[in-house]
Formats: sequence, C-alpha cells, structure tokens
Amino acid sequence: MNKVSFGHEDVEPREKTRRVRGVFSSVASRYDLMNDLMSGGQHRLWKDLLVRRVRPRLGEAILDMAGGTGDVAFRLARHGAAVTVADINPDMLAVGIERAKARGIEGLAWAEENAETLSFADKSFDAYTIAFGIRNVTDMPAALAEAYRVLRTGGRFFCLEFSRTRWPGFATLYETYSRHVVPHIGKAVANDADSYRYLIESIERFPDMPTFKAMIEQADFANAKAEPILGGLVAIHSGWKV
Ligand code: SAM
Repeated sequence: MNKVSFGHEDVEPREKTRRVRGVFSSVASRYDLMNDLMSGGQHRLWKDLLVRRVRPRLGEAILDMAGGTGDVAFRLARHGAAVTVADINPDMLAVGIERAKARGIEGLAWAEENAETLSFADKSFDAYTIAFGIRNVTDMPAALAEAYRVLRTGGRFFCLEFSRTRWPGFATLYETYSRHVVPHIGKAVANDADSYRYLIESIERFPDMPTFKAMIEQADFANAKAEPILGGLVAIHSGWKV
C-alpha cells in the first residue's frame, strides 16, 4: 500500500495506525468532555440522528465499529439491540466500559478489533455503524469490505463522519474555528494541541460526499446515500447489503 495521510502528512500505513493509536490513547480520558466542548454539544444531536436512521429493532445484532467510549452503542442499546462495541484502542474501550458501568448499561459486548481485519464470522450482524471513526482508519476500502462481509444479507451500513459544508460563509467560519480555536481548546483542556490538530487535519483530508459515497458503492453496497447535516459539515452515509 502507498503512503497514507496522517493529518496533512503522508506516512507509511503502519506508521499511521501507530500514530492514530497514540492520539486516541492520549485523548481517551478527556474524549467525551472535549467532544462536548468542541461541538457545543452538537455531536449528541448528530448521534441521535444516526440512531434514528438505523432504526434499531429489539434483539438485532449491531456492530458499532470504532465505538470508542460507547456513545453510539448506548443509544442503540436503549432500543433493545444487541450491540457489540469494537475499537482498535483498549484505552478508549476502557473508558467506555467504565461509563457503561456508571450508567447501569448492561449487556454490551466490548471487543478490541481493527476495522480492517475483523475477527467476526461472515454475516454476523444486522447493522454496522461507525461514527467519526472511518477517517482514522488506515485502509478505508479494507474496512468497508469487512463491513460488507460481516453484515447479513439485508444488513444496513451507516457512517457518521465530518465532511465538507456547502454553505459558503459557514465553511469559512468553521475553517477558522477548527484551525485556530480547536488546538487551543485541546491545549487548554487536555494539554494536547497536537492530537486535536491531527483530528482537524484528518477532517480536511477526508473524501467529500460524492467520493465517499462512490467508495461505499465500490464495496458492493446497494442504494448508497449521503445525507448532509449543516450543509455537509457532517454527513450520514448509508448503504445496504443485498
Ligand atoms: N464512535 C465514537 C464516537 O463517535 O464518539 C468514537 C469516535 S473517535 C473520534 C474514533 C475512534 O476510532 C477511536 O476510538 C479510535 O481508536 C478508533 N479507530 C481508529 N482506527 C481504527 C481501526 N483501524 N479500527 C477500529 N477502530 C479504530
């Protein structure tokens, strides 16, 4: 595989995986607080919308990939779905397990997994969700192929991710905010400007909606869709395995 982007730097694939691990190990303990601060609490609404689109049913098996500290999984579980939270980073999962305990949420399965090489059997899940995770994955086509493999026929794929807003004034405002304000918040609150700089740069390097939708189609998903939020600042991409 050729070099891949780690923020605005191009690095060897193995190096990206190593550095991404470092970023999330470093931010794990402050991750949830920082999400609220950086998005003004908006990420909660985006995750609520994602779960509304999934429409989880009682007893459905859902894989929340790159599930981190459990935000999406907790929402899915509220609808009675049988949720597996999978993430490559044990530090993020450890925070999630503690949060679940503190909230009295039981019955989630937690698994350390790389989205590119899942250990689950073919056709194990009714739905697959990935929120703010895919842009951190080194080999995105490999992760999409694995999502397809582990879904049952009729299974649904959903990805919530930052994209690019098409509202011109808002785009400029957001760019200023993300480049100049977010690393300062990262420094002040988590003493970690570099990790937050990476998180912003990785958003800037992520494919736009038509490109990512095409990648979902290339992974064989049918009826691929991109639903923009705030003009495309964030988007929910989806597809079906038929
Ligand atoms: N989904 C959670 C949320 O929305 O709050 C966490 C999102 S966090 C921005 C990104 C997560 O992706 C991190 O927990 C990170 O460890 C995970 N991740 C990065 N690369 C991964 C990979 N190759 N396989 C699985 N998880 C990965």
